[in-house]
Amino acid sequence: MTEAHIWQNEKLGLKVVEALKKNRFKAEYLATKEEARQRLLETIPAGASIGVGGSLTITQLNVLEELDKRGHKLFDHTDQKLSVEERNIRRRLQLTSDVFLSGTNAVTLGGQLVNEDNTGNRVAAMIYGPQKVIVVAGINKIVKDVDSALDRIEMYAAPMTNYRFGFPNPCTKTGFCSNCESERRICNVVTIMRKKPSQADITIFIIGEELGL
Ligand code: SF4
Repeated sequence: MTEAHIWQNEKLGLKVVEALKKNRFKAEYLATKEEARQRLLETIPAGASIGVGGSLTITQLNVLEELDKRGHKLFDHTDQKLSVEERNIRRRLQLTSDVFLSGTNAVTLGGQLVNEDNTGNRVAAMIYGPQKVIVVAGINKIVKDVDSALDRIEMYAAPMTNYRFGFPNPCTKTGFCSNCESERRICNVVTIMRKKPSQADITIFIIGEELGL
């Protein structure tokens, strides 16, 4: 990364942190992936049960193995070896976990979180249920406004997620969204968190590196 990238990432990250705080979220800017990893580990209380929202950013921060070693009970539904029933049990347990870890599809300059979901478990747990929610977002998730966030999801995040998991949807072949009618469509729910939901405790870490999709 050049000095100019580091400079702009910090300016952009701090601007979004300020906007998120105005919207009643807790928020911090962390310059590097390693700083974010340390901060995440120290923010999670000892003994907390942890729901994991299926996030490439969380995977890239490489925290789950460490949390497992620390003895936390992890509810992660993404293991492809699990049956549909087992995955749904874990999704429900995420909703009442002590801490829920998630990425986000986009964060606007005005401090709003925009997400698209398939089953809805991830966005539901972000809004209500867990005692504490921690959202991690690479600098690449910052967009100008809600319209740009929706464009980002349709043009990039959703097709890339389909390709990553090899889902049998049109975008896996074409690379762009055609608002399909596929039974395996993953784009079923869109949420815009304009301000922190009143009963939620949500901390957002904006990280000065590109992470996730
Ligand atoms: S709506 Fe269909 S085509 Fe568009 S990104 Fe979602 S799964 Fe792909």
